[in-house]
Amino acid sequence: MEKKHANHNIACTVTQCKNHCCDADYCALDRIQVGTHEADPTVCECTDCRSFERKEGGCDCRG
Ligand code: SF4
Repeated sequence: MEKKHANHNIACTVTQCKNHCCDADYCALDRIQVGTHEADPTVCECTDCRSFERKEGGCDCRG
């Protein structure tokens, strides 16, 4: 499997994303875009990583 560089400035546990570094809880991108799906966000659940891309074939990071 392709080895990706862990960006220690962007912690992330979404291993289903193809931008996840896989071998630790970090994103592999240099930068990400964060946005919201709410008109008036009030809690962290209102925010989203807009750089998420679904990993084809599901998660193969662990297990
Ligand atoms: S793009 Fe977003 S969701 Fe995907 S690994 Fe990076 S921070 Fe996580």
